Amino acid sequence: MPDLVVIGGGAAGFFGAISAAEAGVKEIVILEKGPEVLTKVRISGGGRCNVTHSCFDPRELSTYYPRGNRSLMGPFHRWQASDTIAWFEHHGVELKTEADGRMFPTTDDSQTIIDALTQAAYTQDIRVRTHCGVTAIRAQDDGSFEIDTATHETIHAKNILVATGGTRIKHARIPAENLEHSLLPPTPSLFTFKIDDPRLTDLQGVSVPQATVKAGKHSATGPLLITHWGLSGPAVLKVSAWGARDLAELDYQFTLQVNWLGDTTPEQAREILTKERSQNGARKIYNKYSPFPGMTRRLWQRLCEEAGVTSEQTWANLTKDQTRKILENVSQARFQVLGKSINKDEFVTCGGVPLKDVNLKTMQSKHQPGLFFAGEILDIDGITGGFNFQAAWTTGHLAGKAIADRQI
Ligand SMILES: Cc1cc2nc3c(=O)[nH]c(=O)nc-3n(C[C@H](O)[C@H](O)[C@H](O)COP(=O)(O)OP(=O)(O)OC[C@H]3O[C@@H](n4cnc5c(N)ncnc54)[C@H](O)[C@@H]3O)c2cc1C
Repeated sequence: MPDLVVIGGGAAGFFGAISAAEAGVKEIVILEKGPEVLTKVRISGGGRCNVTHSCFDPRELSTYYPRGNRSLMGPFHRWQASDTIAWFEHHGVELKTEADGRMFPTTDDSQTIIDALTQAAYTQDIRVRTHCGVTAIRAQDDGSFEIDTATHETIHAKNILVATGGTRIKHARIPAENLEHSLLPPTPSLFTFKIDDPRLTDLQGVSVPQATVKAGKHSATGPLLITHWGLSGPAVLKVSAWGARDLAELDYQFTLQVNWLGDTTPEQAREILTKERSQNGARKIYNKYSPFPGMTRRLWQRLCEEAGVTSEQTWANLTKDQTRKILENVSQARFQVLGKSINKDEFVTCGGVPLKDVNLKTMQSKHQPGLFFAGEILDIDGITGGFNFQAAWTTGHLAGKAIADRQI
């Protein structure tokens, strides 16, 4: 009987299996439903795999997880981004940091990560079986497990690590549900907003480096991008992640407030306009440049046009009413969101096994000894930037290590 059967051959399953083996667990099998393992790693980060984020303070790291959040501080104290970097380095993979903190293999190729994980699994004699989806699982009186597979086999295991990924797929839910774990319903996170508004027409590709967007009680600051269907970019993705459950309840129909200038207040924006008026009265208002740092001339022109400013109008002739309208369009623009779109095929779901049902030191179920969880099956999700994989490495590692401790 294997000491450990890992269900799911993704990042969390592989890392859990390897961590268990490196800590001394002997007989390990990974059962993967699909024809290939690590398929999400392959397509991740646009084929480059954003492995983790260069954030080395567990407390700060936990703030990037709308679901997980403070509960992850303990797990990150045990395995955080620096441990991930060291592990990959030890296994021959050098990571580099981009300006925004995202970390990728220096090869810019996700195959490097796949090779490191599959090589480590091979070195540790971990058996990997593809086309071997788990169709049912039963806990036995002696504390072991009986697993039925799509290949019509029954496999026994002393410990189980469930790493089946996001629960919008029925197969991913089977092991947890069969073992009487309730699951929070799957809800999309990390999406962009559909907006049909003349203020954005023909501006696709225009972006600002620092905008603040607000959706109800959720707000986020960061780059904002106009697309042909609405708004995207890190600020939108962040607010979609934090507001995932609330926005789903609204069926993705809500008012989005945008401050194109980020943390700049309407008063500070007014001062910028006043200064422009007094210093450059004879200049045309939108012909050459935008007075606000980071705002492109095209966007500035559109916001001016919306306020009724004409192409020939000079700063000296800017009326009070136009100033008020410009400030409103710049700092407090309101857009009606009509739905959501997927961000570059990257979909993450929140939902899954509630963290209150799991011991966060070991990732062991609180209801069923010998049953462990790791990765996206847990109700944990991060914003974009390498945080979702970091959660997979952390929870996989803790589970693997705890399974080894249990064996000894
Ligand atoms: C396009 C895309 C790009 C992404 N890019 C990034 C990125 O660059 N950085 C980042 O941090 N995150 C990224 N993410 C998110 C990241 O991929 C996931 O958070 C991560 O893969 C979760 O790992 P996991 O092992 O928990 O689940 P998965 O990778 O989904 O693996 C679960 C595995 O379990 C298998 N399985 C399911 N049910 C069963 C069953 N009953 N029996 C056997 N096997 C089963 C599935 O077939 C699958 O192979 C991206 C996601 C997508 C979709």
